[in-house]
Amino acid sequence: MFATPPSPPPQTQGWCPGAWQPMASGDGLVVRVRPPLGRLSAAQALRLAELAAQHGAGLLELTSRANIQLRGVAPDQHGALLDALAAQGLLDPDARQEQLRNLVIDPLYQPADGVLALAEALQQALVADTALDGLPAKFGFSLASGRHGGLAEVAADVQIVRDGTQGWRLQVPGQPIAWQADNPSLTVQAALALARCCAAQARARRAAGEHPGRLPQMLRQTGVLPPLALPADLREVPPYLPADGSPNPGWQSGLGLLVAAPLGRVTADALARLARSGIRSLRLTPWRMLLVEGLAPSDSAVLEEAGLGHSDHWIRDPQDARLRVSACSGAPGCRQALAPTQDLALALAPHVPDGAHLHVSGCAKGCARQLPSTVTLVAQAGEQEPVFGRARHALARAVTDSRLSARSLRDNPGLLFEEI
Ligand code: SF4
Repeated sequence: MFATPPSPPPQTQGWCPGAWQPMASGDGLVVRVRPPLGRLSAAQALRLAELAAQHGAGLLELTSRANIQLRGVAPDQHGALLDALAAQGLLDPDARQEQLRNLVIDPLYQPADGVLALAEALQQALVADTALDGLPAKFGFSLASGRHGGLAEVAADVQIVRDGTQGWRLQVPGQPIAWQADNPSLTVQAALALARCCAAQARARRAAGEHPGRLPQMLRQTGVLPPLALPADLREVPPYLPADGSPNPGWQSGLGLLVAAPLGRVTADALARLARSGIRSLRLTPWRMLLVEGLAPSDSAVLEEAGLGHSDHWIRDPQDARLRVSACSGAPGCRQALAPTQDLALALAPHVPDGAHLHVSGCAKGCARQLPSTVTLVAQAGEQEPVFGRARHALARAVTDSRLSARSLRDNPGLLFEEI
C-alpha cells in the first residue's frame, strides 16, 4: 500500500509529470494516467470517473499524448489514489517504467495491422532495457498505422510507421533519411538502439552540465548518429508519414465511434454515464477524443444510455465550432496563468472561420499546444483586466502583433481574424 506518495526511484533522471510524480497546479495536483496500450475497459473508465469525483475536482482531461488526467487532487489524497489506480491495473510499478512507456499508439489501428502487437513488444522491451536509464524525461515514440495523417502532429523523438506490406519505417523528425525494418522484431531492436543512443548522449550532456535535450534536436546539432547505433539489417529509405490532419468525430468503420469533449475536458459524471451504458472499452487518442470501441450506428439504446447526444459534454458533429479552439488550463487552474482562458476560447469558438484554429494560452509557455495556430491569444501581465497578445500563424511564445482585452474580444470577436 502507498500510504504516502513514494519518491521516484534513483534511476529516474529529469522529471516528467505522471501518476507517480504529479504536477502541482493552482487547483491541486494533476495526476496523469497512462493506461496500458492506450485503452480503458468500461470498468476502468468507471473507476477513473469515481476516483476523479472522490479524490479530485470531478474533472478529467484528455491529453495530446493520449493520456487522461485527474485535476484538483489534494496532496494528502495522492497515496490513496495510487492504491486505487494500482488495483485497476492503471499504475506502473514505478516512475521509471511509467516514463519509459511513453508511446502514442494510433488509436485507429485495425485487428490485423500489427500495430497493437508491435506496441506491446516495444513497451515490454523499453521497460526491460537498463541501458535507457538517463533518457530525457519526455523522450517518446509514436506508432502510426500509416492509413491516415492523425499522428503527424504528435510530438515524438522517434516516429514508427506501418509501411504497407514492407514492414515498418522508423524516423526522427527533421532527419533526411528513415530506416525500414521488414519485421516487428527488427523494428523493436532499431527503436531500442535509437533510444539508447539518445540516453547515452543525454548522460554525456548532463555530465557536461548541459540540458539533455531531445533526439531530434541532438541530431540536428550533431548531424549523425554515432556509429554502431543501429542494427545492420535496416534499409535506408526516405522519411514519410501521411499528414492530412486529425480525424473528425464520427463513426470509424468497423472500429466504433470517435467522440470529442469540449477543450478535451470530461466531467466525472459524463464519463461514468458512458462507462455504465454497456460499452465494452475506450481507446484514448492524441486528438483529445475517445474511440468507443465496438459501438455501431444500430446500437441506439446504448447511444442513448451513454449520454453521447448531450452536447454540453460530448462533440459528435465534425462541424462543431468548439473543435476549432483549444486552450490551456489558464487561471485559476494553473499557477503561471495570467488570465482565465477556457471560457474565452469557448465564447470565441463560433467566430473562428472554418479551417482556422484559435488557441488561448494563459502564458507564453504554450504548453497545451505544440503547433502554430491561425490565431494564438497569449495572456499578458500588467493590466487591471485580462489582456491578450495576438500572434498569427504562430506558437504562444511568438512575438504578438496587438493587445486586446478579454472584454473587447468578447464584444468584437470579428477583430480576431481580421486581415488573416
Ligand atoms: S501555457 Fe502557461 S498558463 Fe497555460 S497551462 Fe501552461 S504554464 Fe499554465
